[in-house]
Amino acid sequence: MKITFLGTADVRPRVDAYVSATMIEVGDRVYLLDAGAPVSDLMLRYGRRPDALCAVFTTHAHNDHVDGLFQLFSHCIHVYSKASYDVYMTEAPIAQAFCDCIGTLYHLEFPKDRLRVHVAKEGVVYDDGVLRATYIPVAYHEGPPHFAILIEADGKCVLFTGDMSQNLKDDDFPRVAYERETDLIVCEYAHSLIDVLDPHIQRCRTKTFAFNHYAGYRHEELAAIVNSGRYAFPIRALRDGDVIEL
Ligand SMILES: [Zn+2]
Repeated sequence: MKITFLGTADVRPRVDAYVSATMIEVGDRVYLLDAGAPVSDLMLRYGRRPDALCAVFTTHAHNDHVDGLFQLFSHCIHVYSKASYDVYMTEAPIAQAFCDCIGTLYHLEFPKDRLRVHVAKEGVVYDDGVLRATYIPVAYHEGPPHFAILIEADGKCVLFTGDMSQNLKDDDFPRVAYERETDLIVCEYAHSLIDVLDPHIQRCRTKTFAFNHYAGYRHEELAAIVNSGRYAFPIRALRDGDVIEL
């Protein structure tokens, strides 16, 4: 499994990073986890055409995780007309709004037979025999659904925390991080800082831990955490274009 971090910033515009988007390749099969803009261009930059996609998994419907879908859908209507993949969004009205907007913009019926937009629910949402994606609710108690996503492929297991509650006030760090061995945990660093996250990171059973989804002014703070020697596993702060092969 090859994981390319296309965008590692949080919602704040950055000159050196794009918002959340991660490309996962398993052999010839290509998947996205979150689809912040300009995800379609970024796929090309890192060697894959959008019509290679099998599925797109979004953790929640905030713009910095889904706004690249407008471009991706547009490209897959006008350029990559054979593209055929499943897209998992987390809120039905927003999923519908995306399809309606594209249809209205281009005066056509949204091609829902080949760009198949679904509303994800808790549990296994996708399993093509190569990759399995399991949605795990986080920050669920105050409004729209947010999910962590567990990806299993190639005998490896990766947990993406998605966006958790502010300062983990819902105590929603995904329990699976403590309960099972993972090869990699990718943790957001936008809603809680290290004082809050530390006891949870200490409990994680993983081979590697990586921060993404953070503001540019946090580079030094993250470098100090990375160099602290405090954890039983390697820890890193991701940058756009970083690749992790498992
Ligand atoms: Zn976010």
